Amino acid sequence: MLLVSLTFAALVAGRTTAAPPVETAPPVQSEAPVESAAVAATSPRTAWQPTVAEKHWTTIVLHHSATEQGDVASIDAVHRGKRDPSGKAWLGIGYHFVVGNGRKMADGEVQPTFRWQQQLAGAHAGQRDYNENGIGICVIGNFDEAAPTARQMTAVRDLIKTLAARHAIPRERIVRHQDVTATACPGRLFPWDQAVSGVPGTTKGS
Ligand SMILES: [Zn+2]
Repeated sequence: MLLVSLTFAALVAGRTTAAPPVETAPPVQSEAPVESAAVAATSPRTAWQPTVAEKHWTTIVLHHSATEQGDVASIDAVHRGKRDPSGKAWLGIGYHFVVGNGRKMADGEVQPTFRWQQQLAGAHAGQRDYNENGIGICVIGNFDEAAPTARQMTAVRDLIKTLAARHAIPRERIVRHQDVTATACPGRLFPWDQAVSGVPGTTKGS
């Protein structure tokens, strides 16, 4: 947890001239054991608490990586080879967040990408509106072949719940990739109802 939050704070600190000072990371205790993977997995929520001024997002699009393992760097390497319909190369990883499965990232660890840190449009949905106004979340795994881990689902549910609350995004505006583009993503074994269970719908009374 500590290492993850420190990493996030360090990553965003370089560009937050207009944002309040980052003081979320507690001082490092020299006697504290270093068990980054295990500690991060027990409490992923500190990894994505926003510390920069956010733009107004209106939707969330959920994906799987369709790989057995991965992290921000491995996806970034693949996406740098892609081009948009006009032939322009992608800037790098197209998602705003990646949720690990214990293989290359800790199980349930949430890593924001440069697109979240810099509040940039995504490259993930195959639809312009969803790329420009949607927060792209990629969960590592191939959920056509196996279900996500319990820690991944806890992390995804918390991430969606928090982002939806911050941006007043109703349940109806939180979608799977397959809901907006012809794809199987995020896979037939992904428990969608569980992922969005923390977000109220507009049709429910408040
Ligand atoms: Zn997808």
